[in-house]
Amino acid sequence: LAERIESHANKPCVTTDDQPITLLVNAGLSAELELQQMQGAGIGLYRTEIPFMLRERFPSESEQYELYLQILQSAPQQEITLRTLDVGGDKPLPYFPINEENPFLGWRGVRLTLDHPEIFLVQVRAMLRASAGLHNLHILLPMITSVSEVDDANRLINQAYHEVSEELKSLPQGIQRPRVGVMLEVPAVIYQIAHLAKKVDFFSVGTNDLTQYLLAVDRNNARVADLYSSYHPAVLNALSSIAQQCHLANTPVTVCGELAGEPGGAILLMAMGYRKLSMNAHNIRKINWVIRHANIAELNFLLPDALACQHPSEVVCLVNDYLNSKDLG
Ligand code: PEP
Ligand code: MG
Repeated sequence: LAERIESHANKPCVTTDDQPITLLVNAGLSAELELQQMQGAGIGLYRTEIPFMLRERFPSESEQYELYLQILQSAPQQEITLRTLDVGGDKPLPYFPINEENPFLGWRGVRLTLDHPEIFLVQVRAMLRASAGLHNLHILLPMITSVSEVDDANRLINQAYHEVSEELKSLPQGIQRPRVGVMLEVPAVIYQIAHLAKKVDFFSVGTNDLTQYLLAVDRNNARVADLYSSYHPAVLNALSSIAQQCHLANTPVTVCGELAGEPGGAILLMAMGYRKLSMNAHNIRKINWVIRHANIAELNFLLPDALACQHPSEVVCLVNDYLNSKDLG
């Protein structure tokens, strides 16, 4: 199997009915970057909290600048999506303790950074400075629940943009206004896509948190692990609705949760209309291989059946039957 996957490694990511699918990498450390360079993919999600978690204090603006510069320069022709700090929940910062009874429902992602604009501004300034002369910076906001949070974040990003443009005005290349997007991972945003689309350039679906919050199942709690499944028909119907709404709003959308890196997940997402999938680097070759054997027209037949299922296990059976029929199981 590994050999068969490998034999397709450098072939274009298109379905058997010629639909191109863009594969992107989820990253969070520079080691993964090297892998990403090898495979020539862009970065659909760079989790900036990971380098923050490995330190003993907040990295300074210049330390962050160095890091983001290295990432943006690693693939200047590809889109690079840097997500603003997503700490809280299961991702603690040793030097910024948060004690809460319900951390996943508490001070997480933009909730924290909008309450601490100095943290947010330093990070965005570092990203913008690093983007000088490049055109690939995309800034992604985690844990957005309300339109007002996007307004607040956009205001701060604008402020940083004006400051940095002014500081760098002697540079010939200058900086470009970054593209700004939001994570769709809190169920409330499913009902606000049309409003959000007017304020952002792109969306990125976080299936890990979307599953956790839709099913009210802690994604890290072993006791309820059996209840946590992104193949739950409720999650799939939400994902399908998101794809349709993003299409109607004419706003690009990527899926960056774990589901995109699973063969069964990738084919369901393609059937829903998603064309950009971001995943851990080690899944890229396998998913490329699956996509090269999949057929969107056939998947369009499979999707209504999957969405009509009552149990995640039925969906998994349907999907496995399809993968087996293509000898991909
Ligand atoms: C997600 O929630 O699906 C996601 C990609 O973000 P993270 O796993 O970092 O919360
Ligand atoms: Mg998330």
